[in-house]
Amino acid sequence: MSSERKPTFAIIGAGMSGLLAALKLREAGYEFTVFEKADRVGGTWRENTYPGIACDVPSHLYSYSFELNPDWKFLASPGAEIQEYFEGIAKRYELEGSIRFNDPIVRCDWQGEGWEVEGGSGFVGHFDWVIAATGILHHPKHAEIPGIEDFAGDLFHSAEWDHSVALEGKRIGVIGNGSSGIQITGTLAPIASEFTLFQRTAQWVVPVEQVEYTEEQRAEFRSNPEALQGLHDELDQSFHQGFGNQVLDSSSDIFEGMRTVCNNHLDTFVTDPELREKLRPDYTPACKRLVVSHNFYDSIQVPQAELVTESIERIEAGGVRTADGRLHEFDVLVAATGFHVDAFVRPMAVRGLDGVTLDEIWKERPSAYMSMGIPGFPNFFMINGPNSPVGNFSLIRTAEMQFAYLMMLVDHVKEGGHSHATPSSEAAVRFEDERTEAAKNTVWATGCRSWYLDDRGIPFVWPFPFERFTQEMEKPRFEDYTIG
Ligand code: NAP
Repeated sequence: MSSERKPTFAIIGAGMSGLLAALKLREAGYEFTVFEKADRVGGTWRENTYPGIACDVPSHLYSYSFELNPDWKFLASPGAEIQEYFEGIAKRYELEGSIRFNDPIVRCDWQGEGWEVEGGSGFVGHFDWVIAATGILHHPKHAEIPGIEDFAGDLFHSAEWDHSVALEGKRIGVIGNGSSGIQITGTLAPIASEFTLFQRTAQWVVPVEQVEYTEEQRAEFRSNPEALQGLHDELDQSFHQGFGNQVLDSSSDIFEGMRTVCNNHLDTFVTDPELREKLRPDYTPACKRLVVSHNFYDSIQVPQAELVTESIERIEAGGVRTADGRLHEFDVLVAATGFHVDAFVRPMAVRGLDGVTLDEIWKERPSAYMSMGIPGFPNFFMINGPNSPVGNFSLIRTAEMQFAYLMMLVDHVKEGGHSHATPSSEAAVRFEDERTEAAKNTVWATGCRSWYLDDRGIPFVWPFPFERFTQEMEKPRFEDYTIG
């Protein structure tokens, strides 16, 4: 490619990472098209609208570092407020005209010099680079329970909420007590006539206080950007240096501290000894993704609520039959059963060098060099892709650093008068081997079932300290790429 011509980009997805890529490319004067499967921006915050949805990461950390928001109303914002933030970003940077809504990419073919990309609408475009910003918690995992199709009431997944269904005064069942199930319980148990939470594994629940910022506090943030920046930086520092790094060493003292805090929370707030013991986990805190809540223990103790730990045998027209033979009858059944976290860009058909497909390369499990690139797939990079930090570092900081890394690579290729870069297989294998070894020492590998584990039971999350991530993202190791 001539070094005068600016490369062009296809961005897949208009969630947090896709919007970030789009606005940064706009600022840098590049041409790009965003392909978005839905009719609005927002990604996970557009998809997840269940009652009680909020981000358990403080809002002043869950913001782009260059778009801090003095007007966050809560310490941990409800989903609708975060959705509003991302919609505001799309408007402010005038991105909507560059987004093809309702046009999911179905096919990406490498054609020697660039990518041919096809949208579900039949649109076909040609781009030099593809940035896949498709998210991790993206493909709902429907409860695979015998008889589920027989249920006669309303049944939906937490990420596919049917808002036409009235909830107040109804008999409601929730399957799953991850972060979604716990937030739903916090909100729905008090308004249901009967409420049941089906718990397969107890969760460590970290107490938080829901703090609403006053108008005076928000005015102070507006008039004092340094104070706002200071708050962001302080949250960022304590999250990454504290929690983010300590979960990597399963022998760290931090887990005993967490156990004490969570046990105190449980012992103080749950009065019935039998319920208390059912709610007490028997594995190391943070082995599963920690659940944070200000109202779960209150809600599960309202008179109409029940925690059921008996295993589910099948679903029938009337409700859920447990192994003890009991039928739990419901009007509404919610599957808060999580996501297929290993799908990433799939089921999109992606074909790289020599016609190799992503399905073939990833047939055992997904992996990516530096969590971003795949050998055999030139100029195809993911943000928050396989092996990215998730839960241990801020997802937004991670995306910002990954995007900056990619732009250094793009500039390097262009300045050399080249057209493409592909991570070498040797570099990818070296990274994967080192990553897999480090993952075995993390708290996620201490013996619990969680979505952090791959098919071998090895955590797939970035297992190195934050400093290592910062260092790797500071400048690509160009020698790890085939550039041509
Ligand atoms: P999840 O953490 O994967 O939880 C799924 C739940 O469903 C688990 O309790 C699981 O039990 C249960 N389950 C799955 N299949 C089942 C079956 N067939 N029968 C009975 N129980 C079944 O999913 P999630 O709650 O949607 O959360 C996913 C992630 O999204 C979180 O970890 C977090 O990273 C993110 N999230 C974040 C927030 C936030 O505030 N920032 C809020 C919501 C979600 P087991 O534990 O026994 O497997």
